[in-house]
Amino acid sequence: MKLLETGSKKLFHYERGLGSFIDEKTIKITKNNGKEKIINADYTIIATGSKPRKLPNTPVDEKIIMTSEGIHHMDDFPKSLVIVGAGVIGCEYATIFSNFGKTKVYLIDRADHILPFEDDDISEMVEGNLERHGVTIHHKAQLERLNIVDGEVEYELSYEDGRREVLRVEKALLSIGRELNISGLNMENAGVQKSKRGRHIGDVDTQTNIPNIYAVGDASGKIALVNMGELEGRQAVEKIFGNKTTPLSYDNVSTIMFLEPEVAAVGLNEKQCTERGLSIKVVKLDFSCIARAIAMRKTQGFFKIIVTNDEKMQVLGMRAIGEHASSAIQAVALLIKTRQSIKLLADLVHPHPSIIEGIQECVRMLMNESVFKSSVFKDNLKAYSCVDGKCTPLQQISKEGLLESSCDADNTFDFTE
Ligand SMILES: Cc1cc2nc3c(=O)[nH]c(=O)nc-3n(C[C@H](O)[C@H](O)[C@H](O)COP(=O)(O)OP(=O)(O)OC[C@H]3O[C@@H](n4cnc5c(N)ncnc54)[C@H](O)[C@@H]3O)c2cc1C
Repeated sequence: MKLLETGSKKLFHYERGLGSFIDEKTIKITKNNGKEKIINADYTIIATGSKPRKLPNTPVDEKIIMTSEGIHHMDDFPKSLVIVGAGVIGCEYATIFSNFGKTKVYLIDRADHILPFEDDDISEMVEGNLERHGVTIHHKAQLERLNIVDGEVEYELSYEDGRREVLRVEKALLSIGRELNISGLNMENAGVQKSKRGRHIGDVDTQTNIPNIYAVGDASGKIALVNMGELEGRQAVEKIFGNKTTPLSYDNVSTIMFLEPEVAAVGLNEKQCTERGLSIKVVKLDFSCIARAIAMRKTQGFFKIIVTNDEKMQVLGMRAIGEHASSAIQAVALLIKTRQSIKLLADLVHPHPSIIEGIQECVRMLMNESVFKSSVFKDNLKAYSCVDGKCTPLQQISKEGLLESSCDADNTFDFTE
């Protein structure tokens, strides 16, 4: 910032205050002391982020009932903590507090599995570890009320079978999603509209309906991740200066979830493929088959790669759970971006011993070239195709004891479909 603020051409000017639109080219900055300053801008980028969503009738004081904004200000570990919401952030905090071992953690999960957007095999592994670390997960639980009673948190849950329970804990963390931080912006003065469903700012490739106003990061409401916010910011600036014609791609966004063990994701998961009615091949390899994982005594985890159910085997997505998961997905992310076949990884010489050798073995299994036979080691290896919701093993053992593999259909996939 210092570099940009100095020099012969002052490229950057920083002003602390609350920005709001007067019209599409005029911004008001309200300072902390109440003073106002008006500035003119040929272009504006809205990058005001998001804020934690709150529950009606549940007052958040950020001391006893907190959100992710207040929880970092605690000066000691609570004896007990209830976390409302079993999405990524809720599960990450459940992992953190249970790992410290000083807090009894309760996690309220509206669905029957935590991380409801992920495939069940991922959710179940994380869930099992949380429970082994002493976390109590209230599955399929509806939160009826949560309030402060005698300086503690009291909450009431109801279940499908009519059961109800009331529990008391020291603190509560609400992690039930985030909402756009745009309420004070007076976007209407500039004519900036929200998307059709009203959930986020209606931008196309970072540009709003007003040509000189852009929206990036969490405020754009697309994917709330630091790396996406940065990419969108770069995209907006390059478009403003007329250098960018290729739209941003959201197909191969890599994410990491700080859980036990670490989870990394890129592209589609099985659930999403099924929802889209895609015909797919899936391969799954347990970390207990990877030499490096065995040597590290970190055999809990698996790689799962999903490709199109055809000769090309274009990569659709990957899930990795276990040691080095977030580093392992990059090669596959590149193949998704470039719409290439997973076969490219089969001949790549992987470092040995390494966790990523497991990916190469997955590819070989898909190509029926692996010494690992999914029909034999059924607990550790899986390779199957799924068409119209029906899944069939790619490899079976015939009555004569011979290996049989199924053949390919033609199913080239276009992410824009
Ligand atoms: C608990 C938690 C864990 C996370 N973990 C990860 C992770 O591991 N990896 C990852 O990639 N992402 C993670 N995220 C998401 C990530 O933090 C966000 O996607 C990212 O910070 C969004 O950046 P942003 O610049 O869009 O918004 P922000 O970082 O929210 O910045 C917005 C800024 O705008 C300011 N502002 C708002 N309104 C106005 C206004 N009217 N005038 C002037 N200024 C204004 C705000 O004060 C703020 O400084 C996590 C989020 C949470 C809550």
